Amino acid sequence: MKRLVGLAAAAFILALWHWMAFGDGWLRTVAARSGPGEDDDMHEQRAAMVQTLRAYGIRDERILTTMGRVRRHRFIPEAYRWASDPYGDHPCPIGHQQTISQPYIVAYMTERIAPQPGEKILEIGTGSGYQAAILADLGADVYSIEIIPELADHARQVLASEGFAVKVLTGDGYKGWPEHAPFDAVIVTCAPEQLPQALVDQLKDGGRMILPLGERFAQRLVILRKEAGQVRTEEDLPVRFVPMVPGKPDSP
Ligand code: SAH
Repeated sequence: MKRLVGLAAAAFILALWHWMAFGDGWLRTVAARSGPGEDDDMHEQRAAMVQTLRAYGIRDERILTTMGRVRRHRFIPEAYRWASDPYGDHPCPIGHQQTISQPYIVAYMTERIAPQPGEKILEIGTGSGYQAAILADLGADVYSIEIIPELADHARQVLASEGFAVKVLTGDGYKGWPEHAPFDAVIVTCAPEQLPQALVDQLKDGGRMILPLGERFAQRLVILRKEAGQVRTEEDLPVRFVPMVPGKPDSP
């Protein structure tokens, strides 16, 4: 009888330990609430962000699942990571006077180009690498160009450590990436004042492109489609992105 009680107690303690360590036990709950730590996955904050995206009208379940999975906070360089809430619906600084776009804009632009698994997508303005990770998580084959070498290096490193095989080029996005063209879709996350022709040329027939176009305080998202050699554009939301800076004539 004594032995039975002992066994039952041992089994109970084991089950309790298992629940606390691996389940949704109080240890985890307390850790999640007591502020960010290195090992904190922040899945509750991401789930709340996904709820906001739904409330704002994002409908594509694949995109919502991806945004709930990719660890946005990891893409914000450590020095800026907790300067503002990484999961709040606003842009966050990433250094070099650049920002990671607000989650709604990332989700919206992604939804508008509807990336399919296996498609080849070019992104201009890698920044933190977050938008590229979202596209890669959706199964696209992603190429991304960043003009600031330190940001390109940071993005390469975090993309690799989070398990995304994105190709990052340090260079001038106005030139596109002719060696890998044509692309099924192009997404530009900095604002040129005029449509960069090289990017239109590097788009497949049947391809689509989304970009913020215009001067600093008068930008609109533009959606462009190439069909039978014809280019159709459609104006969309007013937005405010950092400007797309022209590279030096001899830059890569
Ligand atoms: N997509 C990014 C946010 C981009 S912020 C993310 O998910 O974090 C815009 C980025 O465009 C900045 O990093 C800026 O350096 C870059 N950029 C500006 N002009 C560029 C150009 N001509 N070519 C490539 N990148 C450029």
